[in-house]
Amino acid sequence: MLIIPNNEYFLRIPTFPLHKNHILKIQDIKDLMRREMNQLKGAGIAANQIGSNWSIFLISRKVIKKPLDMFIINPQIIWKSNKQKLMNEGCLSVPERREKIMRAESVTLTGWNEFGRDIKIEKATGLLAQVLQHETDHLLGKLYIDYLENKNE
Ligand SMILES: [Zn+2]
Repeated sequence: MLIIPNNEYFLRIPTFPLHKNHILKIQDIKDLMRREMNQLKGAGIAANQIGSNWSIFLISRKVIKKPLDMFIINPQIIWKSNKQKLMNEGCLSVPERREKIMRAESVTLTGWNEFGRDIKIEKATGLLAQVLQHETDHLLGKLYIDYLENKNE
């Protein structure tokens, strides 16, 4: 398996924004992300989890309830609800572990689709809101288990 585990420093390095000219040159990375996510039945996967440091993640079609998995390039969460929710979370890089953490109940995200067109996911809620936050965190070098240290505050 290709997934980089959470004890490796590579996952802590913020990823680089992808230039429009390079979008068509990362097909191999996208194929690998899709394969790994679907083999491991993940809800999403970030490029750095398979060893690429481009800012791109993939969301499972099961999360978005569409026929195809969805890539998002250079994502940015531009709004988070003040209201938070306790969410049960896991990560392909932290196998066989699940924890409850607080996340914003709803978020708005902007970025590009895999063809470089602007997209905006407005006020996502539920599992989609959770996955958008989880994968955006990955691209910033952050893991969900980082939130556990402050759990009892
Ligand atoms: Zn993860």
